[in-house]
Amino acid sequence: MITWMSIIAAIGMATGFVGLAWLIGTRVKRPVVTPPVTDGGPTDLERFYPVIAIDHASDGILIMSMNGIILWMNPAYCRIMGYQAHEMLGRNPLSFALPPEETPDAEFVRNFRFVPEAYEKSGLQLYRNVRKNGQLFWNQISVSFHTTDQNQQYAVLVCRDVTTNIEKEQALEAASRELAYIAAHDDLTGAANRAELSRFVEAALMTAQDTDSKIGLLHIDLDKFKQINDTYGHPAGDAVLVATAERLRAEVRDTDLVARMGGDEFVVVCTGLQTLTDLRNVGKALIKAVTKPIPWQNSTLNFGASIGAALSNDTIKSANDMLIQSDFALYDVKRTGRGRVATYNADLHRRYTQAAARETALVQAIRDKALTFHFHPVVAPQPGVVRGLETLVRWEHPTEGLMSPDILLPLAQSLGLMADLDFLAMNAALDMKTRLNAAGHADVLVSFNTSPEVLSHPDFCQKLLSGLAFRDLTPDDVIVEVLETVVFENQGGATPFTQIVADLNDAGIFTVLDDFGSGNAGIAQLAKLAIKGVKFDKSIGMSILTDQTMEVVYKTLVGLCNELDLRMVTEGVETEAQAERLRELGCTNIQGFLVTKPLPADAILQWLDHYTASAIAPDDAPRYLKAN
Ligand code: GH3
Ligand code: MG
Repeated sequence: MITWMSIIAAIGMATGFVGLAWLIGTRVKRPVVTPPVTDGGPTDLERFYPVIAIDHASDGILIMSMNGIILWMNPAYCRIMGYQAHEMLGRNPLSFALPPEETPDAEFVRNFRFVPEAYEKSGLQLYRNVRKNGQLFWNQISVSFHTTDQNQQYAVLVCRDVTTNIEKEQALEAASRELAYIAAHDDLTGAANRAELSRFVEAALMTAQDTDSKIGLLHIDLDKFKQINDTYGHPAGDAVLVATAERLRAEVRDTDLVARMGGDEFVVVCTGLQTLTDLRNVGKALIKAVTKPIPWQNSTLNFGASIGAALSNDTIKSANDMLIQSDFALYDVKRTGRGRVATYNADLHRRYTQAAARETALVQAIRDKALTFHFHPVVAPQPGVVRGLETLVRWEHPTEGLMSPDILLPLAQSLGLMADLDFLAMNAALDMKTRLNAAGHADVLVSFNTSPEVLSHPDFCQKLLSGLAFRDLTPDDVIVEVLETVVFENQGGATPFTQIVADLNDAGIFTVLDDFGSGNAGIAQLAKLAIKGVKFDKSIGMSILTDQTMEVVYKTLVGLCNELDLRMVTEGVETEAQAERLRELGCTNIQGFLVTKPLPADAILQWLDHYTASAIAPDDAPRYLKAN
């Protein structure tokens, strides 16, 4: 316990009187002090323990009058402030301990008085102080008050230099602020990132509800941005992205948010809106601002931007709901005409969702081998003679029913699944051939269609050969149908399709040119191709009775195929009259609804049994089939 006497003794020491306290204080610094054994009362040395403690304290201690004048200080305070005791005694620290810009004027210092009540609850106080050498430091001060028996009041200040702690804390705070910034922002552009966008939209949706306003999302994607990367390099692309973020920020209000979703995709959140027109107008202004050309080295970067817009409404329950809508509107504008603002539309959304569901279902069907195959016969003019079966894919959608090939094939192509689909058709064809042989129809060949994707697949030929071998079939049991357009447009990547056809031929596999006459019929090249036959496009069969020119063309092609010894099939034959005319013009085989529609495997085998059993076709059979 510090007694008042010990404090007065200490004041004596601090004010420069050569006091006993100081002498004892300096003397007890080195030797180990062992309190002498006494008869009960404190020894002389024990009485000075408080003084020794104050003397050695690392915290500065001050006794001050109530008008702020220093009456006494311990050595630590001198050390902290860098002044000698006599330089501070009799002064108010306000006049020398604060940085110059914070030092109050002399009158304020003169009028200063401690107000004890003001310190009652405030506890520790932190001040930016300055040492004699001008160095700033953080001074943590606790103030208490002491009243003597003579009712004299004094302030006792304990000061601690906490600069190191504060600086550490400040560094930590700065680091955590920096981390928080990094966690919420995109590195390249400084725009908010996805996480921050979500947080902002959630909060903005709540505010909008409270203030009866709306928020709008403008989902921006630059048009043909990849071209800039490809033509001028990634630094140019980066410059465009940085400029885009800056331009967006400059265009919107401080209460709005600009975020980068990744790539060349940004989202602007507009708050305090009322109508979709307001949002659309902001969107238009953004496109104008963002797409201004950017000078780059010796040239200029030009690019466009498309925006999908969504306004908050009753169906929106979360930031994610809103982002789905603006993203959908963007998806729509990218497909229906870029460089403008498209707004969210629930009907369109339903249609796109259905298309997306179809894609998923097709991916699943191909993966699960859940597609089915029907077979369409190619027949000769002689009754009961079937030359082959063409394998045709069918897809029974789980909810939409049988999908037409006009939907199925483009969908498979857009999904990059054509090769998978063709491999399934190949296996179905080979399985059917096995069944044909077992059922006594060994003369009937099977064919299947091939896309450019499967033809240029590195394992196509090998897979076909091993599929045949696995089933004890031979290469001449199967016919590969290749579209005329594919062969002559020559998109075979490293290997031209003409070469791929030649390779198949070398492996003993026959190919026929499908839909011949539908594209740029490469008549001149026909002789050079390693094909075994052609299938005339169904437009020829269907128009043979009505189109005189077609008749001339057909006759010429038949003559040419006979010359080249190519097997001929005319597709799309629907009526007896068409069949009759085609036969007159030299047609050798037909395929079409006149004979039968494509049938599933079991049904086509039954049909075959019935059809081939009668060398003379039944009375109700088309006349064409009864000829010869
Ligand atoms: P579209 O017109 O359909 O929008 O196509 P696009 O060429 O603009 O390309 P898209 O939006 O589909 O893809 C954006 C491209 O941006 C893909 C990627 O190559 C490129 N990209 C993604 N991140 C960065 C980046 O940080 N810097 C640069 N320079 N390019 C990026
Ligand atoms: Mg883009």
